[in-house]
Amino acid sequence: MTLVRRDRLYIGGAWVPAAGPGSVAVLNPFTETEIGHVPAGTREDVDRAVAAARAAFPPWRDTPLTDRLAYLEKARAILAGRSGDLARLITQEAGTPILASRATQVGYPLRVLAGLRAAAGNVAWTYRLGTTLVVSEPAGVAAAITPWNYPLQQSIAKVGPALAAGCTVVLKPSELAPLCLFELAGILHEAGLPGGVFNLVTGDGPETGAALVAHESVSVISFTGSTATGRAIGAAAAAGVKRLVSELGGKSPSVALGDGDATQAAIATAARCFGNAGQTCAALTRLIVPRAALGEVEQTLAAEAARLRMGDPAEEITTLGPVISAGQRARIGAYVADALAQGARLIAGGPGAPVPSRGHFVAATVLSDVTASMTVAQEEIFGPVLCVLPYDTEDEALRIANDSRYGLAAAVWSSSPQRAVAFARRIEAGMVSVNGGRLNLDAPFGGVKESGNGREFGADGIREFLETKAVNFPSGEAAWPAGPAGREPGPGKGDTTWTS
Ligand code: NAD
Repeated sequence: MTLVRRDRLYIGGAWVPAAGPGSVAVLNPFTETEIGHVPAGTREDVDRAVAAARAAFPPWRDTPLTDRLAYLEKARAILAGRSGDLARLITQEAGTPILASRATQVGYPLRVLAGLRAAAGNVAWTYRLGTTLVVSEPAGVAAAITPWNYPLQQSIAKVGPALAAGCTVVLKPSELAPLCLFELAGILHEAGLPGGVFNLVTGDGPETGAALVAHESVSVISFTGSTATGRAIGAAAAAGVKRLVSELGGKSPSVALGDGDATQAAIATAARCFGNAGQTCAALTRLIVPRAALGEVEQTLAAEAARLRMGDPAEEITTLGPVISAGQRARIGAYVADALAQGARLIAGGPGAPVPSRGHFVAATVLSDVTASMTVAQEEIFGPVLCVLPYDTEDEALRIANDSRYGLAAAVWSSSPQRAVAFARRIEAGMVSVNGGRLNLDAPFGGVKESGNGREFGADGIREFLETKAVNFPSGEAAWPAGPAGREPGPGKGDTTWTS
């Protein structure tokens, strides 16, 4: 691959030189070589980007909703035409095996964009409450700060709804996988988006990201990343009394109830743990199983781990790619060693398991006899490490599932959907899969507890970028205004007449 040299930022509808000379190298986690570099944005760059977004806000806010959506639909069509190249690029910078890159890294953003019109139709843009007209209005300039593990998807999950809502955006992607976002900026430009509506500033967190979060003209911050960073951003947001949408880490449980098919639960949980080399916020990393099923589950998981093929993520036969960096590989190894020292039993992978000589590989690792108090059961490892925790009673299973500071996703397995739902209702998580139910990109996505407080996708995703205003009228129907089409504001759902 030829080196991707990015020396400009996308600000105010144009590619402009960065203010400072600094750059950030982007490394391929498989070849361990530099594949490109991007500008290290400075406070001055952030100031310029926010000023451009601020200037573009009033006309964008006043652009009819249906026109705003049309720009996004055009961008989606362009993106669809480049999906193969984008999947390859993300595989290079994030290490995701190419088949998964096509399906999730690019397939999900396409799906999210395709759902925006229907999602906007489910937003209560205006409704009447007695003598009050309640209107939802875009919050202003949105700062989107995103991680590297699904770089395009996490960015689209913010940029799409924010633009649909009528906000203008400054995106600061992760410095580890920023290249695909330059492609996104080009696509939005080609779609004809007015200058300043979308802006891209690259750089690290402590300088570029922090300057963006603290900027006085930013009205809403939408952040996806680790809980530690989320805390720092939360403090900065609180200081500026800004709206904050946070999508943070996870340690998600998968619970096989006694009447369920433990083997099926084990196979599906392994897939949702080891996908993207375990570097997925909603990965199911704690499998909670009846003690009686432990032997069968361990056998199944050992076979699933052995089935994965490590190698060049650009090749279609590869199903387990490298983790993002050497530092992350060492961190994962330390967690596994610590778990073994605390009494966990190794079922697959672990220290000494063979891995390719090149690339930051970690073999799919299964630890059994894990207890909720072990560090490995509590902390987000962000690698292909699955913990198996046996239980004796259903109450104990629920206690283990909820014994976590995180609350992002969960799964329940039972032959009775009613029983599964009753259990799902008692799990502290933002999303629960029942008997393998798949992620719905139109449904609210987000967590509780230290997994954050935001929701992405669907109408909820758009609502995060809206403020509510109450417009009060005197009593008496004569005082009540007619809508633009000579009609009253609708009952809420789907009525965008008064916004557009
Ligand atoms: P990270 O927290 O290290 O970085 C995320 C982003 O924040 C990057 O763009 C980074 O540059 C920026 N940043 C760092 N410090 C900052 C600061 N002080 N001010 C402003 N910005 C700052 O996370 P990561 O390693 O890129 O991503 C992995 C984490 O993201 C995991 O914890 C994972 O669970 C989480 N994640 C959550 C979701 C979700 O939807 N809940 C989705 C994907 C990833």
